Amino acid sequence: MEKESGVAEGDIPTTRETTRKPTRRRPPRFELIGGPVCLDFVNTLDDRYSHEPKELLKGYIDLARFAEDAGILTEQQVDRLFARSMESPEPAQRALTAAIQMREAMYEVLWALVKKKPVPPAALILLNQYVQGAAQHMRLMPGRGHFEWQFDSSPNNFEAPLWPIARSAAELLASDYVEYVRACASKTCEWLFLDESKNHRRRWCDMTKCGNRAKVKRFYTRKKKASS
Ligand SMILES: [Zn+2]
Repeated sequence: MEKESGVAEGDIPTTRETTRKPTRRRPPRFELIGGPVCLDFVNTLDDRYSHEPKELLKGYIDLARFAEDAGILTEQQVDRLFARSMESPEPAQRALTAAIQMREAMYEVLWALVKKKPVPPAALILLNQYVQGAAQHMRLMPGRGHFEWQFDSSPNNFEAPLWPIARSAAELLASDYVEYVRACASKTCEWLFLDESKNHRRRWCDMTKCGNRAKVKRFYTRKKKASS
């Protein structure tokens, strides 16, 4: 999808880790339309409001692949984590369970903001725990002209994909951009995204999918009315 203009790149409240784009060795599995990685992560429960929500994080490898697609882990890190998850499936599964718990806490907080409702305190407490957990794995490293935040890149921690996502949520929630978090106008979709368009009137997660579907539906409703 074409990026809408309005906010200059670099203005988005994400760390280098959450915005770095990998060179792809294979086609991405996840549709990343949210902007900040935390929003794409919330969208990994697809069709949340339909009769049949689709869980896109079915196994640990899905979580690792999400991290690769989103560019928050390197291919090498993903390969190592995947290999280790085969050797030690139980801790990998626990990390996946934690990831889903974190995602749902993020969702509850963000959804309340989108719908201008009170934020559920329990969800915020839980999200804060993940944010604090992630912060423990951050360190300052010399970079070009200034220091950079980096996450511990040790291959042994199954929760490594969670840290940049938690950090992304913390940065977004603590920024002025939070008021531009939107839900897709399609009632079954409602994917979250950051509306970076100039006039802040983006309605769809992806114009070519939900936007198009809505257009086609309107067209047929009009046609039906005209012929009745
Ligand atoms: Zn949509």
